[in-house]
Amino acid sequence: MDFINHQLFIKDINVHIDPILPKKTAIITHGHADHARFGHDHVIATRQTIDIMKIRYGDKCAKKFTPLRYGQKYSIKNYDFTLYPAGHILGSAQVLIEKNNHRLVITGDYKVGKDETCKNFKLVKCDTLITEATFGLPIFQHPDPKDEIQKLIRSVKINKNNCHIVGAYALGKAQRVMNLLRQQKYNETIYIHGSLEKLCQYYSKEKINIGKFEKVSSKDKNFYEGKIIIAPPSALKDRWSRRFPNPIICMASGWMTVKQRAKQQGIELPLVISDHSDWNELLDTIKKSKAKNILITHGQEDALVYYCKKQNLVSKPLSIQGRSDEEIE
Ligand SMILES: [Zn+2]
Repeated sequence: MDFINHQLFIKDINVHIDPILPKKTAIITHGHADHARFGHDHVIATRQTIDIMKIRYGDKCAKKFTPLRYGQKYSIKNYDFTLYPAGHILGSAQVLIEKNNHRLVITGDYKVGKDETCKNFKLVKCDTLITEATFGLPIFQHPDPKDEIQKLIRSVKINKNNCHIVGAYALGKAQRVMNLLRQQKYNETIYIHGSLEKLCQYYSKEKINIGKFEKVSSKDKNFYEGKIIIAPPSALKDRWSRRFPNPIICMASGWMTVKQRAKQQGIELPLVISDHSDWNELLDTIKKSKAKNILITHGQEDALVYYCKKQNLVSKPLSIQGRSDEEIE
């Protein structure tokens, strides 16, 4: 495990995992902006992550791309790399690195729960596990997302003269909310903020069921009564949201567990829908991985480090700069 440093850099072969700055070779776990950046020489990732990077940053966002299928081995010198589903968003992957019989897994962002918008998380046994800890506190116990989406559907039925604007991050969360609505038989057109359009089109093309959607356009104000509109969280605060009739402001995020936070942001209908594992799922993954070394990244490291030490596991936090999943969750 000493072949990789706290910045997820393997000096021996000059390979970085999810680097923030442009690098020679970058293995990218998924398309969120705090993991996938513009300007690397060589990007190694799933096909879908590469597609998403091209949609967001343009076809020339890296000089060379190597798409890998889940489970396909890729070797650089005596290092073997394999990507496995992380269950976080479309195309998301964990990275297994094997060297001299040592197995190290970098989870990237992950969730264990079922999600129709991406391949579900696969547990990979290893010696060293580098796990994220966005929701690494016991207060985070995510509810069933279907129950959360039912709250939205019920509110739409009751408040016929209002429109519901749901804040959801443009990549992953927005499409998950749409898919959850479809799973619960909400069959109306879903209206989206313009910044979501290309990604929604891509998810549709990849056969993810997000149903019929349409970009909001300046139609008669009353047109949006009784409708659901999905927008990035930043749009909830600006003038954009004021054009709609009696909007009820909703937000889909794991952070909505923290009631005070929802209140501060002016969220009337908080929906606890997360694309990260909650506390119990993090513990369960650590246990089932059989890893003896646990390194914990971006998030709430302290409680998890304490838990691991109590289990006689070697554990320490890894402080990686530039991660901001708070915004992206
Ligand atoms: Zn992410």
